[in-house]
Amino acid sequence: MGKNGTHEGARGGGGNGGGGSGGKGFGNVGSGYPLAVRELIERLSGLPGIGIRSAERLAFHILKTESGDALALAAAIRAVKESVRHCKVCFNLSDGDVCGVCSNPKRDRSMVCVVEQPKDLIALEQTGMYRGLFHVLMGRLSPLDGVGPEDLTIAHLVGRVRRSQEADDGDGRVRIEEIVLGLNPTLEGDGTALYLAQELSGFGVKVTRLARGVPTGSSLEFANKAVLGDAIEGRQVM
Ligand code: ZN
Repeated sequence: MGKNGTHEGARGGGGNGGGGSGGKGFGNVGSGYPLAVRELIERLSGLPGIGIRSAERLAFHILKTESGDALALAAAIRAVKESVRHCKVCFNLSDGDVCGVCSNPKRDRSMVCVVEQPKDLIALEQTGMYRGLFHVLMGRLSPLDGVGPEDLTIAHLVGRVRRSQEADDGDGRVRIEEIVLGLNPTLEGDGTALYLAQELSGFGVKVTRLARGVPTGSSLEFANKAVLGDAIEGRQVM
């Protein structure tokens, strides 16, 4: 609710790409609409990548959509807000206390891949190549934006590793043997990975990071300098 005020203010400053005529803000565009339609347009235009014109188009689409379909959309939004939360183990999105990955007995519990956001986890899951568990940081370190270690789930990760190291052979818990750092290959992602590697040293776990370099199916001539640099640095024995 409080967020609404901020995005309105920001939009007044010049529109966000989808707006057509001059980006004069909502008050100008919506004045001829019934209140409920204005409200809908305003809510829609608060979504990322949706300007006032797109919001109007969506609102008109919803207006002429069959009532059942439109209400199903509203119900889906409600359900997602009411039932989806973060897994208490790995912070993945979940509709219970523990997510589907963490509660799957077939997953390799000795390996934890650290990612920035739930959507990164989903991207890795879609490869079908990774059988371990995850840990979602809920962001990355970004000193310039004021994001420090305490704003992320780093302490939970360290606690998770520490608890796993205390596991006895008999108590059914599995020791974490390897942490795979799956952060984005950006300056901040690299900084976060470095920080995590330091935090996790001394636990006797192997800390690795995802390989990077020239993507399969592309060719060297189209790869940019950073990608090629990474590929050369991460070269492997054949
Ligand atoms: Zn989980």
